[in-house]
Amino acid sequence: MLNLDFHPSGRHFLQVPGPSPVPDRILRAISLPTIDHRGPEFARLGLSVLSGLQAVFKTRHPVIVYAASGTGAWEAALCNTLSPGDQVLMYETGHFASLWARMAMRLGLSTELLSWQGEDAYLPQAPGWRRGVQPQLIEERLRRDPHHRIKAVCVVHNETSTGVTSDIAAVRSAVDAARHPALLMVDTISGLACADYRHDEWGVDVAVGGSQKGLMLPPGISFNALSPRALDVMKTATLPRAFWAWDEMIAMNKDGYWPYTPSTNLLYGLSESLEMLQTEGLEHVFARHQRWGGGVRAAVSAWGLPIQCADPARYSPALTGVIVPGGVDADAVRRLIHERFDLSLGTGLGKLKGRMFRIGHLGSSNDLTLLATLAGCEMGLKQVGVALAASGVQAAMDYFSAARMSRP
Ligand code: PLP
Repeated sequence: MLNLDFHPSGRHFLQVPGPSPVPDRILRAISLPTIDHRGPEFARLGLSVLSGLQAVFKTRHPVIVYAASGTGAWEAALCNTLSPGDQVLMYETGHFASLWARMAMRLGLSTELLSWQGEDAYLPQAPGWRRGVQPQLIEERLRRDPHHRIKAVCVVHNETSTGVTSDIAAVRSAVDAARHPALLMVDTISGLACADYRHDEWGVDVAVGGSQKGLMLPPGISFNALSPRALDVMKTATLPRAFWAWDEMIAMNKDGYWPYTPSTNLLYGLSESLEMLQTEGLEHVFARHQRWGGGVRAAVSAWGLPIQCADPARYSPALTGVIVPGGVDADAVRRLIHERFDLSLGTGLGKLKGRMFRIGHLGSSNDLTLLATLAGCEMGLKQVGVALAASGVQAAMDYFSAARMSRP
């Protein structure tokens, strides 16, 4: 049961990096009556969302929609293409990359996790969690695999635990430079519809997406975008799969249906989301996220706190990680901000627990929502006794006043 004893006035500020706020327009679409998923109306909906998703992934090849959270689509990517004992090269950019690697191990794959090993004064325990994938490390490792035992390279496009993106085109070039046939798999769960993602152009074999980030939907559906090569490899891959099997999905999807009962009402929401993204234009959607990221980082810099992403070229347009001073518990700051201002911020995950918090700036938002979010952060930080160099809210106001908006 929902706890309705206390309901603060006004809207809750859901500023975690997903689930992101769901626009009223999408909520209304989801509330429409559920229809027969074997009837003609449903087929029209199915075909339209599948083709709309191809546009968002920038692919001409099939996109699969699962009634599952993103973790399910991770599993689907692996079990449709790999066989027990296959070697998989993963790259540790943060918590989600590590979780995907752990899943690969649990599925019986032989998993190797590369990571950047440098010095980092703020986070000596996790230096690689402040930078994107270093493609040359992947290239070097693949060159040391002359018998092509490594069957897949898996990377995260936008690491939601850190606010660091990776250059997927450069990873593709690294695999090609090593003349290695490994599949390239990319988790773009929090990248999709926030940061540019080009499935076909970048030569990605399997991409993983989720509903609750840039697509502005509630959690509950997730995606695989495929390549012809992935579909070919599927024919000989022997990891067990039933619910996740692509072949039955693709066969039924051709006519707009699913092999089992799909999440009809979330698909209504997806249809609305795709229309909103298409009307605005993906280039404007990406520019809007970049601009928000710029404003939020201006605030964090004015506070004098380090940004989790140490490489400005790889700043995430979807979220910003804020490292708190040593001796301060970031979760205590978040708790206070939640209790006092009804504002939810993302926690530090895994190795970052207590050291940082995350501000989500993705999906359905605007300058004033973000300014209010920053005001909540600023007041909360001060209340726990963090000395701030200057007002971040003022810096963000200055940024938003000056930075041009990209409008259709
Ligand atoms: N990968 C990334 C980059 C994520 O951000 C998340 C969730 O936040 C996941 C995977 C896992 O997805 P889910 O929680 O929807 O299962």
